[in-house]
Amino acid sequence: MDTLIRDALIITQNRNREIIRGDILIEDGKISKVAKSIHGGAEERIDASGKLAFPGLVNAHTHIPMSLFRGYAEGMRLHDWLEKKIWPAERRLKPAHVRAGSLLGILEMVRSGTTCFNEMYIAHMDEVCGAVLGSGMRASVGFGMFDLARKTSPEEEFKNGKSLAEKWSGKSPLLNISMAPHAPYTCSEELLLLAKEYARRNCLRLHIHVSETRKEVFDSLQQKGKRPIEYLHSLGMLDSETVLAHGSWVTKRESVLVGKSGASLSHNPVANLKLATGGICPLREYLEAGANICLGTDGTASNNSHNMLETMKFAQLLQSHLYWDPLRISIQQVWDAATINGAKALGFNSGSIGPGKEADIVLADLRSCNLAPLHGPPSLFFSLHPGNITDVLIAGNPVLSEGKFTSLDEGKIIEEAQRQAEGLVGD
Ligand SMILES: [Zn+2]
Repeated sequence: MDTLIRDALIITQNRNREIIRGDILIEDGKISKVAKSIHGGAEERIDASGKLAFPGLVNAHTHIPMSLFRGYAEGMRLHDWLEKKIWPAERRLKPAHVRAGSLLGILEMVRSGTTCFNEMYIAHMDEVCGAVLGSGMRASVGFGMFDLARKTSPEEEFKNGKSLAEKWSGKSPLLNISMAPHAPYTCSEELLLLAKEYARRNCLRLHIHVSETRKEVFDSLQQKGKRPIEYLHSLGMLDSETVLAHGSWVTKRESVLVGKSGASLSHNPVANLKLATGGICPLREYLEAGANICLGTDGTASNNSHNMLETMKFAQLLQSHLYWDPLRISIQQVWDAATINGAKALGFNSGSIGPGKEADIVLADLRSCNLAPLHGPPSLFFSLHPGNITDVLIAGNPVLSEGKFTSLDEGKIIEEAQRQAEGLVGD
């Protein structure tokens, strides 16, 4: 189906980062033309006068089944929270829980302008992939493998990741499968190498947590004589197909290793603050080293939200605060991190509005009190909220239209998530 979006104020994120008022023509799921005025017929027309159009946001690190844990067991220290609450509940996970949490996470992401996400979780991953395909969302999904923490063998854990890749790779252009060893401290060297070798051979991304806490760095130095990113580098795990999550507690040398390797790094500012991890990811150092910086929410158990608009705001404010300098990371760099950089990290041809790009487009109503007066469109993420978003197209398919989901039953998904969450945590 061809769609013409008329008269929008467009943050294109194209090569020149142009902001124009105009039309967007979508043919066969891709953007075919962006111009001041496009004449000719299209089967579907969307009147976007008074609206902002921007590329769908890319959430570069999350665990969407954990949506069922939103608000569960608040106000606890990380260690207690994991050992007494989250891990026991996760041991009870059934496919229906993962399905319900995934659909809830997808609903929330779409409502807040996200069209693509980078997922890692530890059980029933077929349900996550099914939810992605059933909803029309775009995602990169990996099975979270961890032999040390789960006390299994590297081969057994690797089999989980490999089976997911064999079953779902190539099923849809909207779904990429990644290899997702959980972290250097939860995976043996053997498992890390098995995962990377398989990813390389099959052109898959590798998604891994690293240097989230100071304890992790101390333990790594004690046990391996290397900091976590140095350790991954020594194993040959850093390259342009690797997506690192967090990377907060790092030395300048480590940020240079990431930059030189071409690896991507997902900064997850809200989750870092929520879990009180102390370290703030030094985005400027990474950017100076040439790293591909992206943004993520992490799971809602450690954030409470999948709202990438909020994440963009936190990312910019935290860097300004950290360096006593509001120019330390620019507004444009934040847009880049949340759009084109994320798409590049996950291997999708999306993240900007221009000819040949995937038609992942978000429309927001500018006639809203929280957005008036309109001074500078690029800074709008400081005040945009999900309530402003009216339409979300993914591969040209209107998943959200005039504030309503076109095929997902929002009420039913929320109800089911509540039911499954109550059954899972039981308190
Ligand atoms: Zn995470």
